[in-house]
Amino acid sequence: RLAPATLQFALDSEPGVPAIVVLQAGDLNTGAYDDFAALVPLARARGAWVHVDGAFGLWAAASPRLRHLVAAAGTADSWVADGHKWLNVPYDCGYAFVADPAAHFAAMSHRESYLLQVDGARDALDWNAEWSRRGRAVTTYAALRQLGRQGVAELLERTSALAGALVDGIGALDGAEVVWRSEVNQGLVRFPAPGAGARAADHERHTDAVIAAVAAGGEAYFGGTTWRGQRCMRVSVCNWRTTGDDVARAVAAVRQALAQVSGRK
Ligand SMILES: *Cc1c(COP(=O)(O)O)cnc(C)c1O
Repeated sequence: RLAPATLQFALDSEPGVPAIVVLQAGDLNTGAYDDFAALVPLARARGAWVHVDGAFGLWAAASPRLRHLVAAAGTADSWVADGHKWLNVPYDCGYAFVADPAAHFAAMSHRESYLLQVDGARDALDWNAEWSRRGRAVTTYAALRQLGRQGVAELLERTSALAGALVDGIGALDGAEVVWRSEVNQGLVRFPAPGAGARAADHERHTDAVIAAVAAGGEAYFGGTTWRGQRCMRVSVCNWRTTGDDVARAVAAVRQALAQVSGRK
């Protein structure tokens, strides 16, 4: 999370320079949300454009239980969110929202003599970087119609709970530790190398070896990441079909990979 004093210092060190402040709604390692209520007014008071990267995390606004995470994000100048993550529509589907329609229009619209213009009609090419595109909106519309407001909230809350159960389940294994557990669908675990003489480099190698062994086992897949200088395994649950049984199977797969890698030593 961005510290208000850090942002203030950065903006004040180059006053009068056009600035875009990109805040985070849902960090991909920790699921962390910036403190929009503190940061947005600070940036806007210095003339900066405030953008919110909410690729998956902006969806939290749809859940009464998670909504507090995005409090005051609505005061930003622009947001993006993806459909192809938490909403589970096919790849290549994202949304941009810009609070100031004049700025949005001025940045995107274009006129040519051969383009048809119908007075009063909204034309997608005035609001979009692309002129020709397939009907991405159709899958989004269909998913929202099928899920409804409550279905979206349930999807978010269910996958977040499953991610938490995965982090807890893996963290409880011998040889594993929880690095981060979030309120949303992301978390981090790591696998310190056994033995009293193990050093930082051994922990890194051991963690990567367990991640590789889980993937090679074919039962579950987790990616690796480096967070605060440490190798970790990312836990992320987006898929609407994931169940509690899948969580149990994935935890068992990690247990097996841990035994396999530790036994190899
Ligand atoms: C996935 C992701 C992106 C990249 O967005 P795409 O629309 O998938 O290219 C950016 N930021 C965050 C936090 C993400 O999770």
